[in-house]
Amino acid sequence: MKVAILGAGESGVGAALLAAQQGVEVWVSDKGKISEGFKKELEQNNLPYEEGEHTWEKIADADLVIKSPGIPDKVPLIQQLLAKGISVISEIEWASRYTDTPIIGITGSNGKTTTTTLLYQLLAQAGKDVAMAGNVGKSFARQLTESKKELYVLELSSFQLDGIEDFRPWLALLLNITPDHLDRYDYQLEKYIQSKFRITKNQGPKEQFIYFGEDPNIDSHRKLIPEGVEQVVISQEMMQGKTILANGETFDLRETRLRGKHNALNALFAVHAAQAYGLTTSEIQSGLESFHPVAHRLESVATIEGVEYINDSKATNVDAVFYALQAMDKPIIWVVGGVDKGNDYDPLLPLVREKVKAIVCLGLDNKKIIEKFGSLEVPIRETDSAAKAVQESRQLSKTGDVVLLSPACASFDLFNNYLDRGDQFREAVVAMNNV
Ligand code: ADP
Repeated sequence: MKVAILGAGESGVGAALLAAQQGVEVWVSDKGKISEGFKKELEQNNLPYEEGEHTWEKIADADLVIKSPGIPDKVPLIQQLLAKGISVISEIEWASRYTDTPIIGITGSNGKTTTTTLLYQLLAQAGKDVAMAGNVGKSFARQLTESKKELYVLELSSFQLDGIEDFRPWLALLLNITPDHLDRYDYQLEKYIQSKFRITKNQGPKEQFIYFGEDPNIDSHRKLIPEGVEQVVISQEMMQGKTILANGETFDLRETRLRGKHNALNALFAVHAAQAYGLTTSEIQSGLESFHPVAHRLESVATIEGVEYINDSKATNVDAVFYALQAMDKPIIWVVGGVDKGNDYDPLLPLVREKVKAIVCLGLDNKKIIEKFGSLEVPIRETDSAAKAVQESRQLSKTGDVVLLSPACASFDLFNNYLDRGDQFREAVVAMNNV
């Protein structure tokens, strides 16, 4: 068999390494520039590749094409391959064909990385032989080439799910569905919802689908759940203040670093999955207490002059900001803005009115934010760097306030990515503290 791999990032290179290990002939093709590290890896493993172009003859010669999640189905190359009858799959589908180890798959619009990391840590701390992969850290294919485990916990994006055929997780977790990435789904929420539900499409009676039943976009699509799959429905009732309830057991979140209602929900998912794998209540409770939130997600950076600075740079859509604002119990200086993805800010208005005392825009074009929130009686300042945003925030705040970077937007106008934005924010805060 011959496979062509489109895109030489973490998933493409992982897919190529797995192919090589399985004795499958590969051709790796990236239309852009391949980063040095990945190029070196391909060369060290004698894997043939091209960059800066896609040579049709080489790609169309393959029996199977593995596509990076970054490449939309719409592009002519993919359409031509499909027209020729060549199947195009994601690296997740590819990797899953080479293992029969149980998989826990986690998807949703927000909370994937947090829940995946939390669940992985609960399991690992309890001594289970588990690895985490997918959309966080290593690609699944690379993970399979490195070591065999008894369980895999995978973070899955909708783009990865679009390219599955037979992938069948033992537990599938669907956290929530709110509008995101609609540019890849013809601006149709329905298509995005269908994509997320693919996580359960191959499941059967031996498998569980764990989902948030009160999410309107999930609730309205229950008909997509295959017959016979065991359903575990997460509900708000299972959260009682700082306590969560799962299968008759109570877990206390007071001594944990899990902040906000959204993280209680994430914890409910992780706890149910951990219970399904046989962890005891005390193992889970102690894992919850030692969990550190993942960087750039409501990450508390420092408290300076009585003001707490929080980096939530990963909040790149409105729903994530909704939960961030909701989680705050102090007056907020809200740092917001960047590249707008067609945001509807209306759901934020009540929370902004109630909790936000000043707005600091961090973006090149802040018109939409100013228009939406300009009528509220709060100061709005415009800045074009993380350092300036931190300085402005300092001037606008007083002891007992919180400065929250929770942008609701992508970062590409001023930063390389959300990590760069969060890092620069953190550095500016730390630098101010050292003056
Ligand atoms: P993902 O991997 O799905 O992007 P993350 O765990 O990285 O999710 O969190 C992304 C953003 O969404 C962060 O700002 C975080 O605070 C927020 N968030 C986390 N969990 C949830 C949730 N269950 N619902 C809404 N927002 C959430």
